[in-house]
Amino acid sequence: MPSEHLAVKRRKIKPWILIVLGVLALALLILLGFRLKGWRHQGQESRMTVLVNPWNAVENSGFSPNLTEQDGLQIDKSIKKPLGELLSAARQAGFSPVLTAAYRTREEQLELFDATVRDLLAGGELSENEAMEIAAMRVGRPGTSEHELGLAVDFAEDEALFSWLRENAWRYGFILRYPNGSESLTGRDADPGHYRYVGAAAAEQIHAMNATLEEYLSLFYGDSAQVIFE
Ligand SMILES: [Zn+2]
Repeated sequence: MPSEHLAVKRRKIKPWILIVLGVLALALLILLGFRLKGWRHQGQESRMTVLVNPWNAVENSGFSPNLTEQDGLQIDKSIKKPLGELLSAARQAGFSPVLTAAYRTREEQLELFDATVRDLLAGGELSENEAMEIAAMRVGRPGTSEHELGLAVDFAEDEALFSWLRENAWRYGFILRYPNGSESLTGRDADPGHYRYVGAAAAEQIHAMNATLEEYLSLFYGDSAQVIFE
């Protein structure tokens, strides 16, 4: 009977096709899974290397923080885990790290900038323009501070901790953002307590190169590095 014949034929071919197709589909799914994981990871890491400095305003960075709390301060959610790991590693190394600043709103940054200008003017020796120039180098003009991203934290003055952070913060994805001698590159005064999260891969390379974020990004994106994501 033809129908029986067909059924027998199908039974003979089906296992082969199923096994081959099954193996191929599984291999494709596994490969795609790895690629997706890689792409997603790259996307997350890229978001973390966003550049904000006197020449690249927060508005142009395309980054908007997703805030959460840490030690009574606000930070971007993406750095909660690595910051927690950095803090506990510092404690295990015998330090008592204290965060003095993290996320700042535009108003808070404006208040800080204005207060810094007022303090400088109180000395009576500077013009308003000179005071503003100095304040811009010291704390950053409103709209150009990494603190408005929620990706940067300031540690309270502690020379031994600063020295430990310089050697170890990169392991947790953080870089010393304003190293000594980098003022013309970063547009900011050196600041041993300001750490910026850039992601583990970038932090490792920046540390190994002994570079600034500006130099690191210009290697990949050209001299006028301005990185826009999302
Ligand atoms: Zn800072």
